[in-house]
Amino acid sequence: MALPLPFRLPKPNYLPHNVDVDEPEVVKVYKPLDRPSPFEDAIFEDKAKRLAQELGITAPKGYDVSFHYNVQMEKHHFGQTHPMKPWRLVLTKGLVTSYGMHHAMKNYTTRAATYDELVSFHSQDYVNFLGSVAPQPTPLDVDNPNPDLRFNLGGSDCPLFEGLYDYCSQSGGASLDAARKLCAKQSDIAVAWGGGLHHAKRSEASGFCYINDIVIAILQLLRVHKRVLYIDIDVHHGDGVEEAFFSSDRVMTVSFHKYDPHTFFPGTGALEDNGPKSEHNPGAHHAINVPLNDGITDEQYQWLFERVISQCVQKFQPEAIALQCGADSLAGDRLGKFNLLVQGHSSCVDFCKKLGIPMILFGGGGYTPRNVARAWAYETAVAIGQEEKMASTVYIPDHAPYRQRFEYDGHLLPSIEQILGEPRQNRNPQKKLLEIVQHVTEQLRFVAAAPSVQSSVIPPDLGPIRDEVEQRIKEEIEEQDENARKAREEAVGVPMEF
Ligand SMILES: [Zn+2]
Repeated sequence: MALPLPFRLPKPNYLPHNVDVDEPEVVKVYKPLDRPSPFEDAIFEDKAKRLAQELGITAPKGYDVSFHYNVQMEKHHFGQTHPMKPWRLVLTKGLVTSYGMHHAMKNYTTRAATYDELVSFHSQDYVNFLGSVAPQPTPLDVDNPNPDLRFNLGGSDCPLFEGLYDYCSQSGGASLDAARKLCAKQSDIAVAWGGGLHHAKRSEASGFCYINDIVIAILQLLRVHKRVLYIDIDVHHGDGVEEAFFSSDRVMTVSFHKYDPHTFFPGTGALEDNGPKSEHNPGAHHAINVPLNDGITDEQYQWLFERVISQCVQKFQPEAIALQCGADSLAGDRLGKFNLLVQGHSSCVDFCKKLGIPMILFGGGGYTPRNVARAWAYETAVAIGQEEKMASTVYIPDHAPYRQRFEYDGHLLPSIEQILGEPRQNRNPQKKLLEIVQHVTEQLRFVAAAPSVQSSVIPPDLGPIRDEVEQRIKEEIEEQDENARKAREEAVGVPMEF
């Protein structure tokens, strides 16, 4: 019999351990990806530019879109059988740049978040532990207890892989940079596909998430924006963000997710869970949950999303939106079981964009890399208003990196039959969806219209936002890593500016 552990046993989010055949050999182990030569880079860039010209892909008029990316995130590896593959970021970036879309956005190579920035939300104890714990080659389980491990770390969901602290602070840094550009009005839609890690708690790792970059970014947004609407279309409940702002009326959280308290992670997010039960708590009625079952279709999801979000926006009047675009809600995901196509998933981004409210697009879950890349590249196109031009190619361009990995005969937007053969059985009767809309309408009646904010409750920015501090950090990073310049150009040779 196993000894009782001094901490809660990790609750697994996935069942190990089928080796994923979907990723190339080079990322099955912890080593950098192959680096194309400058000559290959130049050829790629030329083809991407030509395709952009041919399709007429241009920067959006009247608003700015920014792309926040840290190439160092790509090289991390959770373990061979773990569903979370940072390699999906390589595929996404490759597809975005194949269409020359990087020329239509402001591109920022982001730095890692500092310790002070991480503890703007997380406890110092937790961040200290995360920064000092040694990598563990074998995930902890009931047969392999280790009393020295804490904070839900080291299990099969949240393994202690090589470079973990760097990976977390890079993800946090990219999302924070996106928030700062929104606050400074240098961007209207800021894209941070490396973020969106919505399960992480103040002092606990959870569901493949260690640092909650979304909460850190929203805290930044709240310095300038009175109210922030958080929307989550990941297949899992956005529990970490909901919990972080549970008692606040300045952040409304809305999560659409599969809900099954007994069999599906994290088991929270019932329709009736709408924040604190006490009416005296300002956060009461500010958590909206939309529980769904397997097999929901594009039409249903879009119908529901528009009805729920339009009411929330009307009542809450957010000054900024944080949209988590977890791609595990797509059909064919390794963990999710919905019938959503990229078209339905991205319609949520399009709907929010048309509201004309400053917005951050975060990544999140997504465990079939080819589908994640399709979704996030297409949603980047939605952000810049060029999705129809992108879709007109029908096929993924021949020069896209790792093109053979996209499968489905190279279709950009494969059909549900191509992805699944047979669609999953739809367990979402329309009557249930109507009930959800009714419940949300009732909850929102309790929300005071556009709650006012005293300026004194906006805390000063603890993070080093002064230009010279940013500059010093940047120089330090470059000194430490003389390959930084090369690394920025690796993989598909994206030209990035600072
Ligand atoms: Zn998820």
